[in-house]
Amino acid sequence: MSRYWSAVVHGLTPYVPGEQPKLANLVKLNTNENPYGPSPKVIEAVRAEAADTLRLYPDPNSDRLRAGIAAYHGVDPRQVFVGNGSDEVLAHAFLALLKHERPILFPDISYSFYPVYCGLYEIAHRAVPLTDAFEIRVDDYRVPNGGIIFPNPNAPTGRLLALGEIERLLAGNPDSVVVIDEAYIDFGGESAVPLVARHPQLLVTRTLSKSHALAGLRVGYAIGQPHLVEALNRVKDSFNSYPLDRFAQAGALASIEDRAHVESICAKVVATRTRLVADMQALGFEVLPSAANFIFARHPGHDGAALASALRERSIIVRHFKSPARIAPFLRITVGTDDQCRALVDALKDMTAC
Ligand SMILES: *Cc1c(COP(=O)(O)O)cnc(C)c1O
Repeated sequence: MSRYWSAVVHGLTPYVPGEQPKLANLVKLNTNENPYGPSPKVIEAVRAEAADTLRLYPDPNSDRLRAGIAAYHGVDPRQVFVGNGSDEVLAHAFLALLKHERPILFPDISYSFYPVYCGLYEIAHRAVPLTDAFEIRVDDYRVPNGGIIFPNPNAPTGRLLALGEIERLLAGNPDSVVVIDEAYIDFGGESAVPLVARHPQLLVTRTLSKSHALAGLRVGYAIGQPHLVEALNRVKDSFNSYPLDRFAQAGALASIEDRAHVESICAKVVATRTRLVADMQALGFEVLPSAANFIFARHPGHDGAALASALRERSIIVRHFKSPARIAPFLRITVGTDDQCRALVDALKDMTAC
């Protein structure tokens, strides 16, 4: 606390990212990074940008990248907004599209950055409880609201909401923006992007951090009708005209164009997830159905926090959330390589045997 701080800063409760330990030889399964590398074409493209042209500003509108993303999804480039990670895209969406008189709605168990943006931008919000099976019930969102946002698949539960349910949500909610955060959609879900053409209130956000194995490059994007994209651009150009540097624009475009690489590393993660779920269930864990690159699991006989700290002593890092109380028994475990998952399961076998 300092008397030099603004009133807003005094009131903030910032997001706490999963830790990035400086130690080597950890089995790091705590921040949903991809265990496989990005496309070699990305490395090549980024290398090519390390040149004298770095003295020049990057393209403020990322035109080539937006054209590549538009082609990938079969939409118009005017329907694409890019940002420095989808966290930045989401931040702009909160200010540009979700700040209204009425409270916005999101699940009580969801991406914990959403309430942080509400705090920063002074946006009223209401948490809508998930069902006892940790599912989103669309009918619970049929109330007047200033907007709706949730990840699909949801985080940290990994549970997927069927596209038909999203269509029902949109039909019942024509007057405020619905943001579907598809950070994990490439690991087994069906994207809502094809619904954008018919729904002027729908914004879909994506990131290259997880399925493209590019968390370090910081690129995310949103797809929506041009009037929504224009609102995002107004905020962006009132904040930072050059959010994507030359490396990010070139590397992201190369990744978008190497669809085969992304599909192959996602398929490997999905195959490992299937084995991991079976192994965990054999140890007595209850595992929620996951369509993401992580699983959410609890053991009836063992405390979540205790398991997480015992794993840490064996240099295996997973994520544990203390609150809300009903997820405190759970561990959120990123699907790593087969070897990493085997190390995890072996450690848990020892810890749950007694
Ligand atoms: C990882 C994640 C993001 C943010 O991704 P970045 O593009 O790395 O900023 C957004 N939403 C959810 C639900 C995530 O898990």
